[in-house]
Amino acid sequence: MKLRHLEMALERCAGFTRPRAPLEQYGTPAVVAARLLYHAHLKGDIGGKRVLDLGCGTGVLACGASLLGAAEVMGLDVDSGAIGTARENAALLGADVTFITGDVSDDTLFPVFCPCDTVVMNPPFGAQKRHADRPFIDRSLACAQVVYGIFNAGTRPFLDAYIRGRASVDEAIACSFPLKRSFSHHTRDRMEIPVEIVRIIQK
Ligand code: SAH
Repeated sequence: MKLRHLEMALERCAGFTRPRAPLEQYGTPAVVAARLLYHAHLKGDIGGKRVLDLGCGTGVLACGASLLGAAEVMGLDVDSGAIGTARENAALLGADVTFITGDVSDDTLFPVFCPCDTVVMNPPFGAQKRHADRPFIDRSLACAQVVYGIFNAGTRPFLDAYIRGRASVDEAIACSFPLKRSFSHHTRDRMEIPVEIVRIIQK
């Protein structure tokens, strides 16, 4: 599958029906999701691999990983409504994903998922709840050797310091995350948030 075809497929995914600000529910736009996944695919981290999408929301990353030929894909999100939409998206696209409702910090869930080969995630940036990104980083490193994540461009020094001694950022791709007005604290109809797609590898 070509990058453009992946992007077109992911554009068909439904987003959050009622996005919840405290959970930082920002669906990854198809163009950004496809970019992350295709890059991971070219690095050999998707095809034939066991892939976990942490904080999968409506499942765009998980579905894309399945379309690119992952052997097994799992998606986890704390919001059961989002998981319902994710299941509908997977059915629409013909993606084979196991979606589970649960909290990233719940240790009892993870024997189901881990170990896996690759984690993909667009975690909360910690803008609403301070340090909300940390359990995602910790869990991803506990589960997989290779992690692809979308992070606010400004948080890179924090990320580097937080994972030091455990893992390191191997590559970072700067990109722009188009955001439509979705919460009352948004002052403009459209914004472009500078983000980085990072590849993190374990020591
Ligand atoms: N990965 C999706 C959604 C990104 S938004 C996409 O790329 O489109 C961040 C997601 O993290 C939301 O769906 C939110 O419900 C989920 N989330 C926030 N806190 C969580 C937690 N503690 N455990 C699991 N999921 C959580």
